[in-house]
Amino acid sequence: MAETEVRAAAYARYSSDNQREESIEAQLRAIKDYCQKNNIQLVKIYTDEAKSATTDDRPAFLQMIKDSSLGLFNAVIVHKLDRFARNRYDSAFYRRQLKKNGVKLISVLEQLDDSPESIILESVLEGMAEYYSKNLAREVMKGLKENAFQAKFNGGIPPLGYDIVNGEYVINEKEAEAVRLIFELYAQGYGYRQIIDELNLRGYKTKKGNPFSKNSIHEILKNEKYTGKYIFNKGTKKNHRIVKEDVIVIDNAIPAIIDKDLFEQVQKKIEERKITRGANSAKRVYLLSGLVYCGVCGSKMVGCLSRGKYVTYRCSKKDRTKQCTNRDINKEKLESFVIDELNKRVLDPKVAPVLARLLNEENQKLNKERAEEITFLKKRYKEVEEQMKNIVEAIAQGMFQPIMKEKMNELEAMRNELAYRIKELENKKETDFITPEMILKIFEKDREIINSSKDPHEIKEVLKNYIKKIIVTPDEIKCEFYFWIGDDFRSLLVAASGFEPPTLRV
Ligand SMILES: [Zn+2]
Repeated sequence: MAETEVRAAAYARYSSDNQREESIEAQLRAIKDYCQKNNIQLVKIYTDEAKSATTDDRPAFLQMIKDSSLGLFNAVIVHKLDRFARNRYDSAFYRRQLKKNGVKLISVLEQLDDSPESIILESVLEGMAEYYSKNLAREVMKGLKENAFQAKFNGGIPPLGYDIVNGEYVINEKEAEAVRLIFELYAQGYGYRQIIDELNLRGYKTKKGNPFSKNSIHEILKNEKYTGKYIFNKGTKKNHRIVKEDVIVIDNAIPAIIDKDLFEQVQKKIEERKITRGANSAKRVYLLSGLVYCGVCGSKMVGCLSRGKYVTYRCSKKDRTKQCTNRDINKEKLESFVIDELNKRVLDPKVAPVLARLLNEENQKLNKERAEEITFLKKRYKEVEEQMKNIVEAIAQGMFQPIMKEKMNELEAMRNELAYRIKELENKKETDFITPEMILKIFEKDREIINSSKDPHEIKEVLKNYIKKIIVTPDEIKCEFYFWIGDDFRSLLVAASGFEPPTLRV
């Protein structure tokens, strides 16, 4: 290895309740000694003095980890490895952080060099870290699964038609009628619009008390729970990849609202309609629908077929109230202009490094927020556990009341949910540093789709990630992208809100 200058930070820790430990002075003496012998420059000293060996109070240590990204030092020296971390997991975790920042760890008493042994040790430690976090996830999952196997409710909002009583699914008769109506009408060939009208007429509302939308109807028609299936952990569109292996499905576990035949019949119909709709309208997918706004009155502009042949985007107020004077804009013209701008201003190699920097800044902010959220949730978790303990103690002392069981179930569900959310946040927290290369790859992929995909729906999905708003006036089209670079390389604007880092879709 090449001889590079080693600039080191010293770290020493002492817990006053353990008399067998070396004092901070003694640790630092040994470190300074070592530095002199090995020609190492000591640039900074961090020390923590804790009241007890078990508390997690190590402000200087955490500061050191943080500082390791500044390039001030390229090594951290401790007297003994156990000064650096309290357990192997900790050690692997923080060593990884240091490594990411190009900082190596040196112990005065233990040899951790670049020999094969130490590399193996390191990889074992890394393996441990991975094992540890997987194991924790598994523990959390176990709690949720236990609920699942008893077909118990695992948090969230129950689907329309059900209430949760003592953690179990119970049919809500009034809502169940709406659900049956939806299935029956759809099976008879009614469209979403007609079903919604019928539901409104009868005064039905969604579980949240809102009027029905096409989406909410679709969701109901696709929900297998109504046949009595208990489904846990199916995941949403966004995270289905992560949790798929843990899906639990139990037949006839909850009271059914829809019989299986009707459900199947409806599924078939949904598929059929998808196919015919696709065939008829493939040519006329409005790539920008939902994104175009009228610059005259502020309403949305919607896809429109004028006099049977001109395909345009048109101000929606123009049709409804005839109040807006804005002109229609040709569909092809608008779409190709917007895609052109996107190619030029966003999906450009010179944007990548700037965007990487911005995303990293954003990420850091998010990580900080997540850390705060985790602290808060952990505190809640402890409180809930404390309450559970109190109930158990009360029962042990013979003070059982039936309401306690209900309360206990409630607390348990809450605890599981908290644990799950903590774990989820912790997983996200380790989002890696985003490099310009990663962004370039995403750009390349998206450009490919936008410019040459045969599937307009796919193009539309990609466009949504970049376009915030298109504003059309009679003489101007204004594109608001989520981020963008003007002709002047330095004039960079980032939309204040709603920016989804495209890395999520890699
Ligand atoms: Zn208008």
